[in-house]
Amino acid sequence: MPSFEEARKIILERVSPLGPEQAPTLDAVGRVLAEDLAAPWDFPAWDNSAMDGYAVRAQDARPAVSLRLSAYIPAGAAGAEPLAPGTAAKILTGAPLPAGADAIVPFEDTEERDGAIHIRAPVRVGAHVRRKGEDIRAGERVLAAGTILGPPEVSLLASWSRLSVPVHRRPRVAILSTGDELVEPGEMLAPGKIYDSNALAVAAAVKQIGAEPCVLGIARDDPESLRKLLAEGLRADALVTTAGVSMGDRDFVRQVLDELEVRQVFWKVDIKPGRPTAFAMRGSTPVFSLPGNPVSTLLTFEEFVRPALLRMMGHRKVLRSLVGAVYQDEISRKPGRVSFVRVRLERRGGELLAWSAGNQDTGILKTMIQADGIAIIPAAWGDVRRGSTVQVQVLRSGLEMCQE
Ligand code: AMP
Ligand code: MG
Repeated sequence: MPSFEEARKIILERVSPLGPEQAPTLDAVGRVLAEDLAAPWDFPAWDNSAMDGYAVRAQDARPAVSLRLSAYIPAGAAGAEPLAPGTAAKILTGAPLPAGADAIVPFEDTEERDGAIHIRAPVRVGAHVRRKGEDIRAGERVLAAGTILGPPEVSLLASWSRLSVPVHRRPRVAILSTGDELVEPGEMLAPGKIYDSNALAVAAAVKQIGAEPCVLGIARDDPESLRKLLAEGLRADALVTTAGVSMGDRDFVRQVLDELEVRQVFWKVDIKPGRPTAFAMRGSTPVFSLPGNPVSTLLTFEEFVRPALLRMMGHRKVLRSLVGAVYQDEISRKPGRVSFVRVRLERRGGELLAWSAGNQDTGILKTMIQADGIAIIPAAWGDVRRGSTVQVQVLRSGLEMCQE
């Protein structure tokens, strides 16, 4: 049985980024660039004014000198005549610098009178001029493969007039619930039955990272029903099943996967909760069989499926960062396996403090809802005492940077 770290490593070694596709630039937000993109031209493309003011030759523009106004160059002007010595051109921000000019004097540093300007202070060569290519040079590989596209990248792509970009394909993730007790939400509930919450929970988690969920429905605890739906699920880029992987005499998921030539890589991980997690591959398609308890499903998705899907989407960083938090409660435990503890977090002074979110049984969904993060207790640890620093995966983003 692999340890937590081994299991994660085994999974991440087996999945790889999906091939590229062209996506419309705006739809590519949050997705990962699949190729290096080089600037097609200098940015800015020509020298231009950074201020509303006057374009001058710096050597002409000495204090107390007046310069005759020889041109007016608003933004969007196609280009002006060269600037004659001893003159100035009124220019607006973003307008091309006339040839010969090498500085801009902002309006506020001048006085305009009788068709001439009077300069109050010395002018430095290059003042308030945005030089051609000063930001980005033609040919520079500013957007490297692996970049997650956000507003600044889209800004640059738009400035290149690029309407689409090559990004890693998003995995289609087939989701299958299994169990005779399950009823689709929206249907009538009979005695002994419960609504299938895992399918939508996993779909939500898939959606949250920008992959594409495809809910297959509910397979019954019989090989026939499982075979049909699992075979369908194997046509997706990844398959996630929930329940039916424990030791119960109706837990057929692994058996049927095996019949479908899905090769089991491991079954059971040395963690708590979530031990009966199975991982298998068919060709390049990963198959995750998660335990059925809704809390275990969410936790094992978080720890194993999420990083794998992120890798398939081309992300380089696929694990959440861990932050140290000072634990305010106590946990009694025996060394042996990694455990996941749902915690509430709060920043007080300079410190991040963590409390148990409450009942940690896998049957308790409420504490999952109340958790801000998951503390990962190392296998070697015994009891956790108040005041110990625990490593936490922060689930609710913004906890560190938002103000109330
Ligand atoms: P199993 O892994 O099949 O033994 O299921 C473990 C527990 O999770 C049982 O209490 C199931 O009723 C429950 N469970 C399994 N699948 C789902 C599901 N899709 N939605 C809600 N609860 C489930
Ligand atoms: Mg079951």
